[in-house]
Amino acid sequence: MKFDLLIINGKLIDPAFGFSKKGDIGIKDGKIEKIYAPGKLTPKVISTFPKESILDANGAVVTPGLVDIHVHLREPGREDEETVVSGCESAAAGGFTSLCCMPNTQPAIDNQETVKFVTSLAENADCRVYCIGAITKNREGKELSEIGDLVKAGIVAISDDGDYVQNPDLMRRALEYARMFDLPVITHAEDEFLAAGGVMNESFQSTKLGMPGTPAVAEEIAVIRDIKLAGLTDSRLHVAHVSTVGGVEAIRRGKAEGVKVTAEAAPHHFTLTDDLIAERFDTNLRVNPPLRTEADRQAIIEGLIDGTIDCIATDHAPHTEEEKDTVFDEAPPGIIGLETSLGLAITELVGKGYLSLPDMLAKMSANPAHIMGLTSNKLQEGEIADLTIFNPDAAWIVKEKKFKSKCKNSPFVERKLKGKILVTIMNGRVTFRAK
Ligand SMILES: [Zn+2]
Ligand SMILES: [Zn+2]
Repeated sequence: MKFDLLIINGKLIDPAFGFSKKGDIGIKDGKIEKIYAPGKLTPKVISTFPKESILDANGAVVTPGLVDIHVHLREPGREDEETVVSGCESAAAGGFTSLCCMPNTQPAIDNQETVKFVTSLAENADCRVYCIGAITKNREGKELSEIGDLVKAGIVAISDDGDYVQNPDLMRRALEYARMFDLPVITHAEDEFLAAGGVMNESFQSTKLGMPGTPAVAEEIAVIRDIKLAGLTDSRLHVAHVSTVGGVEAIRRGKAEGVKVTAEAAPHHFTLTDDLIAERFDTNLRVNPPLRTEADRQAIIEGLIDGTIDCIATDHAPHTEEEKDTVFDEAPPGIIGLETSLGLAITELVGKGYLSLPDMLAKMSANPAHIMGLTSNKLQEGEIADLTIFNPDAAWIVKEKKFKSKCKNSPFVERKLKGKILVTIMNGRVTFRAK
């Protein structure tokens, strides 16, 4: 037997099937050619393979490649912040083999040409890239995009992320159109009138700091409206970055009522609260939706545990040092997240006993892939070899210098995390290897 790559001694976890077993994997022509039970490949047989083709995963987990369905790649328009290629390098370093990019670029991804431009840039990149098209032309919230054309060009969802589709009738029509293509509509749930001018969560902390706040109800109302519209139109709604008690409750209720609603949470929302802003005044704590209270953080974790929140997505939003190097209320909201996501999920969710490792992995691979209708890769012979190898017990410290993203805007720099990506493999090719 000849392989391009042989992974030995790994603990194989496929969250979609719930299995966890030891084994060796032979990869050939981008596919999982053979999975051997432990001991089937003797050291003598292994020694016949060329050394450079052997990956020893002893002590590590081998799992289907991670999938991030909420990434801002910034190209076209802001290549100084990120490019498709640099964003994909960052994704590979975070263990991701597929990502979906949001359409708030310049120009917006609201036409076939821009979809083709982004996908062509991604052809040889270190991660698979799927485009999300804009709901409205130029994301202005006024007129629907040519959704049919966008679907032909290969988009996997529509969203005006960064902005809420404030007009309910327009959102209703977007949901109706999307239903014809079985496309999820992703809502950035934030009533713009209630949220206007807010730079952080409206809470005790914003009052203390004298900063204008965005009330939690701005999210809750927006989520409730869109769930009602999804129910009315029998279409698929996906709630991005849910951050509030009320938002989680609304999704839980919507699901119980049979509405086709799914949701994601971002690692910073299950890790940090707005208490930290008074301590640090770090502009890397300015995100949208903002960091909320401890009660909200607990509600996110509760939602992840009971399945109300289906997946974890980073909302990777690069901003240059110059942009973030200003006073808190003038800094653009958003942080990078691709390279710290797995570490935060292991440290905060698995390490603290909220989720099992397979459940957490399902929320970072099988579930998000399912929501977006992507082929979800399995740990099976004949499947595409998209794999993430990580050591769940290895501790590491987040270092600014090590980020592959063009930007370093992370509030997690110098934080100690557990769970370290060792190797990422996409289509049988090693796209990242820890030094
Ligand atoms: Zn958003
Ligand atoms: Zn976003």
